Amino acid sequence: MTTDELRDAYLDFFASKGCERRASDVLVPRDDPTVLFTPAGMNQFKREFMGLGDPNFKRATTCQKCIRTGDIENVGKTGRHMTFFEMLGNFSFGDYFKREAIHWAWEFLTNTLKIPADRLTITVYLDDDEAYDIWHNEVKIPANRITRMGEDDNFWPAGAPTHGPNGVCGPCSEIFYHYDDGREVEIWNLVFTQFNRVGPNQLEPLPSKNIDTGMGLERAASCLQGVKTNFETDIFVPLVQAVSEVLGKRYDADSLDGIRIRRAADHARALTFTIFENVRPGPEKQGYVVRRLLRRAVLDAYRMGRREPYLFEIIPVVADVMKRPYPELLESVPRIQTVVREEEERFLRNLENGIKLMDDVFRKTEAAGSDTISGDDAFSLHATYGIPVEIVESLGAERDLKIDREGFEAHLAEHGRISRGSTEAADVFATGPLDALKQEHHEGTSFLGYETTEAEGTV
Ligand code: ATP
Ligand code: MG
Ligand code: MG
Ligand code: MG
Repeated sequence: MTTDELRDAYLDFFASKGCERRASDVLVPRDDPTVLFTPAGMNQFKREFMGLGDPNFKRATTCQKCIRTGDIENVGKTGRHMTFFEMLGNFSFGDYFKREAIHWAWEFLTNTLKIPADRLTITVYLDDDEAYDIWHNEVKIPANRITRMGEDDNFWPAGAPTHGPNGVCGPCSEIFYHYDDGREVEIWNLVFTQFNRVGPNQLEPLPSKNIDTGMGLERAASCLQGVKTNFETDIFVPLVQAVSEVLGKRYDADSLDGIRIRRAADHARALTFTIFENVRPGPEKQGYVVRRLLRRAVLDAYRMGRREPYLFEIIPVVADVMKRPYPELLESVPRIQTVVREEEERFLRNLENGIKLMDDVFRKTEAAGSDTISGDDAFSLHATYGIPVEIVESLGAERDLKIDREGFEAHLAEHGRISRGSTEAADVFATGPLDALKQEHHEGTSFLGYETTEAEGTV
C-alpha cells in the first residue's frame, strides 16, 4: 500500500464512522501563540475540546501537516522521527469515547490494513482500568501484550499531570508495531482528552470527554511496506536518492553520510512546506527554525565536500512526491527554490569566512606547540563569531587538534549567567529542545549565522 493510499484509506474509514473530513490546518498557526508550528492533529480543535466550538460538530478526521522541532536531534538517526510529518487523526468532541476509539483503531489496523494482530502491542496509563478492560476483555488482547505505563509515556502531552504543559490533556493508549527482529515502533496514540491542566497536578475536568488520536502516516506506511525506517517508504526513497545524486554520494544507510542524507531529505520537506506558507529564513520565531534547518543541511553537505548550494534542487522532488495531497506545492516550486538558494548562498559565504577564522586559531595553536585549542579561543569563536563548538571540534579533529571543553563550558556557563534573559512563553507541546534553542537565541549567541549577523561580517 502506498503512502497516498494509506492516507485515503484512513480518512475513508473514519468518514464511514461519521467523522467529518476536515482539511489539514496550516503549519504556522494563525491564532495560537503557544506553538511556533502545528505539532499535532488536535491543535486546530482546541476550542472544540474546551467545549467552545459548534455544538453540532462532534466528529472529525484529518491528515495534519506537522512540524516538531523538538525531534530535530533524532532526525536521520532513529529512522522514525522527522521534523515534518503527517499525522492521521480522528476526533470526538463530547461524542464517542474510549470504547469506540479503541475498537475502531483495532478494526482499521487489523481489518482494513490487514496487519496481523500478533504484530501489535498496547500500552495504557497506569490506573486506566477502563482502557485496559476494553483492550483485554473486548478486543481480546492477551494480558502479556498490554503494558501499563506512567505519565511520561501514557499521558498526552507527556508528563502532563506533574511537569507537562498546561492545556487540554488526558491519559492515552499507544499501539506499537513489532518487526520479526524484535524492533518495535509506536504507530498510533489514542488520547482520551478529558482534562484541562491549569497547574502542577491540577487537572480540571473538561465540559465533555473527548477523543484525539494521532497515527504517524510515515511510520504506518513503513510497517505496511515492510521496511524498517520512514526513509525507505515510497515517499522518501525518491528524496533520499535525489539528495545522494545531487551530492554525488552513494547512499550507505549505515554511515554518517547516510544520516546526513536522510536529514537533508527530511529538512527539504520541512523547508518546502514552511516556505510555501511564506516563512522566510530569519532571526526569530518560525524564520529562525527554518534558517536553522536549512543551515544544518548545508553544513552537513559541506562536511561531505559540497561547496555549492544543493538543497534548492531537492524542492521539485518534494513537490512531486507530495503532489497528490498537496498539488498546490507544484506552482510554488520556483518561489521556494529562490528563497532556499539565496539562503544557501548567504550561509556558504559566512561559512567560508568562519573557516578562515578557525584556520587562524588552528595555526596559532599549532605554532604554540599545543594539540589543544584553548577554552578561550573556542569560546571566542562561539560567542564573537557564532561558530558552534561542534564545528570547531570536528574541523580541528581533521588536524589532530582537541578542544579544552572544560574551559569552553566554564566560559559558556559564565556567559549564560550574565546574559540569561527572559524566555518566551513556554511552548505548549513543543518544550525541550526548542526551548533550548530559544534560550540560545535569547542569550545572544549568534550560532553560525542562525541570526542575522551577516551585516556585521560575522559568521
Ligand atoms: P515518539 O515516542 O516516537 O517520539 P510520540 O509519543 O512523541 O512519539 P505522539 O505525540 O504520540 O508521538 O504523536 C502521535 C504519533 O505521531 C506517534 O505515535 C507517531 O506515529 C507519530 N510521530 C510522532 N512524532 C513523530 C515524528 N517526529 N516524526 C514522524 N512521526 C511522528
Ligand atoms: Mg516524541
Ligand atoms: Mg511515545
Ligand atoms: Mg505517543
